[in-house]
Amino acid sequence: MPEVTSHITVGIIGSGQMGQGIAEVFLLHGYNIFIYDTNNQNLNNADHALRGRLNRSHEKGIIDTNQKACLLNNITPCSNLAQFASCNLIIEAIIEDFDTKISLLKKLGAYQNDSCILATNTSSFSITSLAKHTKNPEHFLGIHFFNPVHRMPLVEIIPHKATHPNVTTTLTQLITSIGKTPITCQDSPGFIVNRLILPLINQAIQLLESGVATADAIDMAMTLGANFPMGPLALADFIGLDTCLSILTTLSKSSHDPSLEPSFLLKSYVAHGKLGRKSGEGFFCYSK
Ligand code: NAD
Repeated sequence: MPEVTSHITVGIIGSGQMGQGIAEVFLLHGYNIFIYDTNNQNLNNADHALRGRLNRSHEKGIIDTNQKACLLNNITPCSNLAQFASCNLIIEAIIEDFDTKISLLKKLGAYQNDSCILATNTSSFSITSLAKHTKNPEHFLGIHFFNPVHRMPLVEIIPHKATHPNVTTTLTQLITSIGKTPITCQDSPGFIVNRLILPLINQAIQLLESGVATADAIDMAMTLGANFPMGPLALADFIGLDTCLSILTTLSKSSHDPSLEPSFLLKSYVAHGKLGRKSGEGFFCYSK
């Protein structure tokens, strides 16, 4: 696989939980990776983690010494978006904030080559609205990975009305080439998975807020009673509470459904920097 794909360069913008995970799967399937973040610490952490992952794959005998050397050469942490001019595919995976994403998409227009496919990993924003701020809307679409990227097989692919059909086909093939299962859906708030899961997470937080049960009891009820692999509050911590808040805000605005209004407790946790696993504390505590 590495020999076949190393001529394709995938640029990833945002090196948080998702950007790092997306970089890892493309890297392990032989793609050339450029990764950029405005936060140098996050970029360094991602670079370190990606190199560590390759070393562990080598130790386990999954890749040989030559492959390891080749794959290590395929990681380029970037300090400037101008370096993305040679990318065949750029994936935007920065924070779930609409204005920040728009500002990045506008800036990117100066560097994106004409054949490059640009995809956003947004969890809930309208692909059509984001497309208006891109240089080439025909080459723009949504590509929604799940966390943790190396374990979750699904990727939602979300073209908007003006996305060229060849772009959707090419992206679908690329996703299949990294061992993931793509499904295509129309541009709609929360797409499929988040549209179904986030209302449940919000209800679980409201149960906690109203004192019906403890966080442990709510999660245990859903793992033991509904056979969920993980309780809704642990899942919220995993996704990131800031990301959950942003998705619920988008879902409630688009549906005018009061039950989707983000709960006070969720807003308060985010305001106090309790973002779930990535900050070390959310509904549960995590050692970093
Ligand atoms: P995160 O908070 O872990 O990482 C976000 C990264 O974006 C940070 O490293 C931050 O420094 C960087 N960033 C912020 N502004 C930037 C800019 N202008 N340019 C470059 N980098 C910038 O968030 P995450 O969980 O990785 O989520 C990233 C995206 O993926 C969001 O759109 C989110 O909705 C989506 N997503 C998240 C999940 C999940 O479960 N966490 C799942 C699917 C999709």
